[in-house]
Amino acid sequence: MTVTESVPGGCAPDGARALHEGILRRQSARESAARTYARALPIVPVRARGLTIEGADGRRYLDCLSGAGTLALGHNHPVVLEAVRRVLDSGAPLHALDLATPVKDAFVTELFRTLPPGLAGHARVQFCGPAGTDAVEAAFKLVRTATGRTGIMAFTGAYHGMTAAALAASGHASDVRVARLPYPQDYRCPFGVGGPQGAELAARWTRSVLDDPKSGVPLPAAMIVEPVQGEGGVLPAPDDWMRRMRRLTAERSVPLIADEVQTGVGRTGAFWAVEHSGVTPDVMVLSKAIGGSLPLAVVVYRDDLDVWEPGAHAGTFRGNQLAMAAGTATLAHVRENRLAEHAAALGARMLSRLRELSERYPCVGEARGRGLMLGLELVDPAGESSTSGASGASGEPGEYGRGGAEAAGRDAVAAHGQHDSQATAFLPQARTPLPAAPGLAATVQRECLRRGLIVELGGRHASVVRLLPPLTLTDEQAEAVLDRLADAIAAAAAGHPAGARA
Ligand code: PMP
Repeated sequence: MTVTESVPGGCAPDGARALHEGILRRQSARESAARTYARALPIVPVRARGLTIEGADGRRYLDCLSGAGTLALGHNHPVVLEAVRRVLDSGAPLHALDLATPVKDAFVTELFRTLPPGLAGHARVQFCGPAGTDAVEAAFKLVRTATGRTGIMAFTGAYHGMTAAALAASGHASDVRVARLPYPQDYRCPFGVGGPQGAELAARWTRSVLDDPKSGVPLPAAMIVEPVQGEGGVLPAPDDWMRRMRRLTAERSVPLIADEVQTGVGRTGAFWAVEHSGVTPDVMVLSKAIGGSLPLAVVVYRDDLDVWEPGAHAGTFRGNQLAMAAGTATLAHVRENRLAEHAAALGARMLSRLRELSERYPCVGEARGRGLMLGLELVDPAGESSTSGASGASGEPGEYGRGGAEAAGRDAVAAHGQHDSQATAFLPQARTPLPAAPGLAATVQRECLRRGLIVELGGRHASVVRLLPPLTLTDEQAEAVLDRLADAIAAAAAGHPAGARA
């Protein structure tokens, strides 16, 4: 595939343009105000292959959104199409509730083959409704039944889905108490230090919440963690911190749920992101890529937790045979072709180019990521430091700083010539806060689109430009993606008062 397919600013034939515009017009007239991607990405996909999407207006785009991280092999990969066709041609039922079928049998065999060794030997799987959030609901129900406890520990910035209110409205126990604990991060470390020190403080806080009888948080039914926060802004959890969370939970018989909905199937440079730290979770929540681009969600868990009653978790659409076949093909292709290793190596090279951008442009606060889950946080270098997380937004005091895990706080202060004297008065290593710049991030996204590149926005303040390219990305394609992104940032920075370095 060539990578110069897009026609930035190119002229589509009148008919194609009219079709494109008509569809978009009807969408905005008829669809919900709650629609999301459709607002920032006014494209009308009609064909797609690999990294490329073609719009109704004839324009082509390099797709680094990948169906919100679903398309591990990109669009319409031949092994996925072949697997789907085989099921269609076989006359198998397409919908089978939770009945046993050869297609499902093959999926479970392939899935279990990939699991972390500590779980694979005694795993159970529950097929859930088709979305990641369904699997999260099921996981909570599972651990609450198994432990007899109710509360859940989760982390700041976490994203696990949209359905808690649906459970409450259905008359289920809706008293899931969530204790919110700090997720370690360098750039906006809540303790102002980042790096291993920040992760250590975060872990200490978690331990004290667990052990202090007056913390207000009873022993929970589970802790749920994303090994790399995706929607939260592309934040990889340090491996040591993950091991600490594993030890803290294991020592207190608290099941650890790894939400690998977004990080799974090679995305972060290991087949499952927990493998980076060697942690074996008790429960894994899986969706997105496991369905090979079709809806599928499961919970995999240690068999001794399997004490819930028949029917404890049900749902009509748990037997999508096409999704299982597409998923089997995807899992096998990623495993056989070592695409996780490819993602690790290519992702590392891409990250170093993104870091060059963060060096060149003061409005790029930090480049970060793991494997092919990459992000750039846009900040306002001219903004007031320390008083808010987002430029122009009201927020809690104390969103901080710049620099990678190893950068000393004072270096970062010096690099930006800004100083949060209140913080540094008692925390000499505290970093300079720079406000997030969601407006600038949206401009970068728009400039990317103009150049034929689709990127995602995320992060607490919607200020993180995210890349989730397919794991089949070639070096040449990666270069094309990064060239367009760099160009888009240059354009966005030029239009921003303090965006470009003088
Ligand atoms: N968990 C994580 C880590 C996710 O990233 C998402 C979706 N972005 C979900 C759960 C929810 O998945 P879904 O949108 O399929 O319900």
